[in-house]
Amino acid sequence: MTTIQLKAPCKVNYRLDVLRRRPDGYHDLRMIMQRVDLCDTITLTTTAIPGIRVTCGSAGVPDGPDNIAWRAADALLQRSNSGRGIEITIDKKIPVAAGLGGGSSDAATVLMGVNSLLELGLSDVELMAIGVTLGADVPFFIFKNTALAGGIGDLLTPLDAVPPAWLLLVNPRVPVSTAWVYQNLELTNREAISIIPRSYESIQDLCAVLANDLEGVTIRRYPIIREIKELLVREGAAGALMSGSGPTVFGIFESEESARSCSKKLAAEYGWFCAAVKTL
Ligand code: ATP
Repeated sequence: MTTIQLKAPCKVNYRLDVLRRRPDGYHDLRMIMQRVDLCDTITLTTTAIPGIRVTCGSAGVPDGPDNIAWRAADALLQRSNSGRGIEITIDKKIPVAAGLGGGSSDAATVLMGVNSLLELGLSDVELMAIGVTLGADVPFFIFKNTALAGGIGDLLTPLDAVPPAWLLLVNPRVPVSTAWVYQNLELTNREAISIIPRSYESIQDLCAVLANDLEGVTIRRYPIIREIKELLVREGAAGALMSGSGPTVFGIFESEESARSCSKKLAAEYGWFCAAVKTL
């Protein structure tokens, strides 16, 4: 029996353009994806008895085969003939259905962890190819770099010249289904789409690129998201945006201190989930 414990970080989107709807029902996207240090903790243990057990105990997250971490372990066990099983415990710290990619990160972490535990020797490129069959954001968490993402989110180019930043994540504690957001998205003509810079010298450069095509859909249903964005800027954020399909909003701050003091204030006044986080 061997056990390992791994951190599964979440992400924000500095940019999310929906380019077009594809015949297969997915959308071609263009995103800037950034990992931040709010993490779930995943404990993986090999067992002599075959099979997979997932324990999470977090509201809104299934324990069995419906958990994306279970499916990640299954995908790798099917490629091994070790005859062993895997026990997965998830200590959930990332808000669920929040636009932060928590489930995708858990799946990516299980793929990397089981690959190492069972000494399968799969490369990151091979793990990313398995990952995309589980979820479009899974490859990004194996890539481990700030990325410009194309395709359904799986064609990744590293963006190395992005300044580190302190962000404040604010979640008004309403879950949002990503599928619902895409179903309600009205695509406009995106032919004349702007060029996205590959390098950013300052936080102000980064703030200039902030945009998310999904915001309109989620804000129509939850106007509180617009109010949180405005509040973050009033409280000193250099810029603010909804991440992914929402409802989490992040503000970009100049210092750890300003992010942390805003976090305390908003959590106390409004009861929202607030976390000051560092980019990875
Ligand atoms: P996505 O855009 O991929 O939906 P998200 O951050 O908005 O990302 P997640 O927190 O990943 O949303 O959860 C989406 C759904 O997936 C939830 O409704 C949840 O029930 C289900 N789910 C399955 N496994 C997990 C997991 N390990 N962690 C979180 N949610 C999970």
